Amino acid sequence: MGEFESVGATSSQTAAVSATRRGFLLLGLGLLVGCAKQTTRVLLPNPPWPALDLPPLVEPEVLPPRYEPPLDPGSLSPASPWRTTVLARGQWAQGEPVTTQMNRLSPVRYITVHHDGMDPFFDIGQRATAARIEAIRRAHRLRGWGDIGYHFVVDRAGRVWEGRSLRYQGAHVKNHNYANIGIVALGNFDRQQPSQAQLASMRQLVSLLMDRYHVPASQVSTHQEWAPTACPGRYLQQFMNTSRRRGRLG
Ligand SMILES: [Zn+2]
Repeated sequence: MGEFESVGATSSQTAAVSATRRGFLLLGLGLLVGCAKQTTRVLLPNPPWPALDLPPLVEPEVLPPRYEPPLDPGSLSPASPWRTTVLARGQWAQGEPVTTQMNRLSPVRYITVHHDGMDPFFDIGQRATAARIEAIRRAHRLRGWGDIGYHFVVDRAGRVWEGRSLRYQGAHVKNHNYANIGIVALGNFDRQQPSQAQLASMRQLVSLLMDRYHVPASQVSTHQEWAPTACPGRYLQQFMNTSRRRGRLG
């Protein structure tokens, strides 16, 4: 299950930015006063900025200096296995992401595995699967989040679907979304077993992401390893425990 989305800079960052802006404003006022004292009118060049139309605090201020655009499944070369293994967000989503309500994703350090935790789900059809993912997105939007909270969805047939773009930080582990890729497997794994295809795809996806972002196995977690929750359900938890113990991830 997903949790928590907090957008924007921290209060200390905000204070620092505000102080800098006040500095610029005061400097600007000083220049205006200076101009007013002159007896000859001088046509000043246009300022380099069109107006004091400052961008929202959300993006530049929270970007770490080493930010690099992360992997975007849709932009890879045809040779990439991602092109065939990840179904684009447009294949299921009935609404656009609200990018002003999301932070940019920082360089990836963690991968976290979830279940959706709703009623058990056994359908392998593409249409029913798309509807299930859309239901999750709607529930997350009702919480005020900018999009579905997870970056990837693994369905009962073993398909992998794009969730929230990797350009944006997810909303899936309260207070630990920073630099953290969220993957959800469809179903409730306290009440049903994951399918074999689902487990195989989960393992492959986690391994690909570990390789792509240099994430060590020690930083691949399940939701309940971050916080007290039943997620990802006992059966998926067992699978993750066994996979890590046997070195099958990465
Ligand atoms: Zn979860």
